[in-house]
Amino acid sequence: IDSIVIDEDIDLDTFISLSGEILRKGGVDRSVVVDHNLRVVDEKPLAITLKKLGVKYIPVSEDYSENTFVSLESLGFFDDVKPSVMRVFRDTEELLYRNWPTPLVMLKSLSTKDIRVWAKLEGFNPYSMSVKDRIGWYMYRKAIDRNGSRPLKLLVESTSTNTGLAIAAMCAIHGSKLRAYIPSTVSKTGELLLKIFGVDVIRSQKALTVELIDDVDKIAREENAVHLNQFHNDANFEVHLRYTAKELELQIREAGIRLRGIVGGLGTSGHMSAISHYFKNRFSNVKIYGVVPKEGTSIQGIRRVESGMKWIHKVVFDRIVDVDPDDAAKTVIDIARREGILIGLSSGAVAYGFKTLLIEGYIDEGDYILIFPDHGFKYVEQLQRYI
Ligand code: PLP
Repeated sequence: IDSIVIDEDIDLDTFISLSGEILRKGGVDRSVVVDHNLRVVDEKPLAITLKKLGVKYIPVSEDYSENTFVSLESLGFFDDVKPSVMRVFRDTEELLYRNWPTPLVMLKSLSTKDIRVWAKLEGFNPYSMSVKDRIGWYMYRKAIDRNGSRPLKLLVESTSTNTGLAIAAMCAIHGSKLRAYIPSTVSKTGELLLKIFGVDVIRSQKALTVELIDDVDKIAREENAVHLNQFHNDANFEVHLRYTAKELELQIREAGIRLRGIVGGLGTSGHMSAISHYFKNRFSNVKIYGVVPKEGTSIQGIRRVESGMKWIHKVVFDRIVDVDPDDAAKTVIDIARREGILIGLSSGAVAYGFKTLLIEGYIDEGDYILIFPDHGFKYVEQLQRYI
């Protein structure tokens, strides 16, 4: 694959339609046409899509007539989600991407005889202890590539802590500076954590991270800084398709899971949109449910769909569930006391969202996966009044 050089990119709609077709078929039935020097002559979008999906080999031919079906497995599709078994890492960046998959654990307290509930613990990522480590890494890596492998000096980003911490880790590893713009709703703990990692923090009067994007964009232009912009950067969607969803499929196989549905929270909509795209195409009849805060309330990390999300509109969700912040916090405490693990507030919302779906008759026999976006240590202040 490395001998094929493709500098171009494709638009999101083309990528979604081509990757959907490849995931649905479980392989490709046509080749990328190349000349004698392995320069791509035709089917560039196919080559780019396969590269973005992380296949190790791209089927090539010098002749259109040679097309035959090649399975994703034989193209090394799963190679980049095979873990380092002995968990030895040469640097702290490998500690992230060579330590996947994050754990998948069955929750006895939510399971019954007929329904098994599993949680994917994104809090096991090393920097922000959240799902956001994945996008911080991928967006940063892609920005370095766009910069001709030269280091990035100054980055600016609007964040409600987790993405900021993830990017801060990449800045620490690669010697860049980060200035984070945080909304008024971010906890003191979040602000302190960012500062510990050397981030310049500017707190805004506005309540939502997404409301700060235009200002941050302007500052980036004025100061010649890099704005990765998690809300619009397709690397957000792509990293979850290439890694998060793919590794989950391997875990599902390993555990013998009869997958009926996946429930997760919506912030940028990056991880759940990618999971929806992947599993709706790879599996038949899997339901995808999104969880958001009840109207007029806020839960750190997730927000209302009407506040504006990019990828959710490109894929299918079977239902969006509203959760009250009190119910989310009480569920965090309940899970701590019944399972012995501390999850974040948006994870509490996801678990409560599942309970709501159960009560409303949406849940059939079989296995369900809840995506828990982060760890709970960051939220001890907010949990205090529920103890
Ligand atoms: N939960 C937490 C704690 C988060 O930090 C985020 C994103 O910031 C989410 C949920 C939502 O994830 P996504 O942006 O992929 O929709």
